[in-house]
Amino acid sequence: MGNSENENLSVVLYKRREEKPQCDIVLENRPVREPAGDEVVLKMNSVGICGSDVHYWLNGRIGDFIVKEPMVIGHEAAGTVVRCGKDVKHLKPGDRVAIEPGYPLCSDEFSKSGRYNLSPVYFCATPPDHGNLQRFYTHKGSFCHKLPDNVSFEEGALIEPLSVGIHACRRAQIGLGHRVLICGAGPIGLVSLLSAKAMGAASIVVTDLSSNRLDKAKELGANFTYQIKLDEKPQDVAKKIEEILGGMPDRTIECTGAESAVQTGIYATKSGGCLLLVGMGPQNVTVPLVNAAVREVDIKGVFRYCNTWPTAISMLASGQINVKPLVTHRFPLEKSQEAFEYTRDGKGIKVMLKCDPEDQGA
Ligand code: NAD
Ligand code: ZN
Repeated sequence: MGNSENENLSVVLYKRREEKPQCDIVLENRPVREPAGDEVVLKMNSVGICGSDVHYWLNGRIGDFIVKEPMVIGHEAAGTVVRCGKDVKHLKPGDRVAIEPGYPLCSDEFSKSGRYNLSPVYFCATPPDHGNLQRFYTHKGSFCHKLPDNVSFEEGALIEPLSVGIHACRRAQIGLGHRVLICGAGPIGLVSLLSAKAMGAASIVVTDLSSNRLDKAKELGANFTYQIKLDEKPQDVAKKIEEILGGMPDRTIECTGAESAVQTGIYATKSGGCLLLVGMGPQNVTVPLVNAAVREVDIKGVFRYCNTWPTAISMLASGQINVKPLVTHRFPLEKSQEAFEYTRDGKGIKVMLKCDPEDQGA
């Protein structure tokens, strides 16, 4: 059971009630899409749940992306190739791959220059595009990246969030000896920590409201952590950060989206340094912009990632980045509803869904 393409159990969000934003999570069998010439059919193994998946479930939308038609959820994934379209040359049945969920739909100026995250994209589980939380899934072959034997499916799935950290640290130009502030110790703050460390940061302080999350940051190699109290003023937090690091941070990676954390990020960052906005908060945020301007603190945005999978695979295979401790819970595909509830309730860090009935382990 569960290993034949005739039975393709899939986790689908249904928008059923007009008056309520929340979608239903429905498990149903869906046909496996036949691959085009440049596509491959994958037998799915591990799919991580992301905050955005939970957000679509609970709110039916993120900004202008609205769940109107039933949508398969899931975008942090790895599996095994079972069939290849005729034009796919770099993969063969049996290859284990990590799936890059977004690929450009045209060769516009961004795509041509390598910044394909800024092009119109197909993106798994961003409406109306289906995700890959199912037993079998069909994807563009060139966005399936072969995993070496010593990189597990779960590590492969975690390349998706890790990519956000790598891209943020690349844009921040983190380098040898830097002092770094990371706001937020959720999955994205933690992968930014791993990336910054691997790129040569000398000392990193991670902040969060939750002491459990800060314990995880410590476990993953943060030199310091600082627990934020909700009534603390951003200027005061900035002073504390400077004391802790023995100097102002050269780079700040903001991974909460909270207005106060963005404000802290500006006050804290050293003159001439750089603040990366990874967290997605409200549309309009009040920030001390002149403070940043007169101290030449560059403020940069981050939208997902581009060209990160090959780098991430090398870093995982060589052991220079270890994402394994991020996984705190595992559920079989059939228990997706429960897994989503766990993530919604903030239990643990990364919840993995196991799609292969014969391989439910790490
Ligand atoms: P998460 O909600 O699991 O983690 C956020 C953490 O920030 C939580 O642990 C929370 O306690 C902490 N926090 C909240 N307010 C804080 C404050 N004032 N100071 C310090 N910590 C505070 O979310 P995540 O999955 O880690 O994602 C983080 C953010 O990154 C989200 O806003 C998400 O939308 C965004 N994101 C952006 C991109 C992108 O392409 N730019 C990609 C993925 C995620
Ligand atoms: Zn995600």
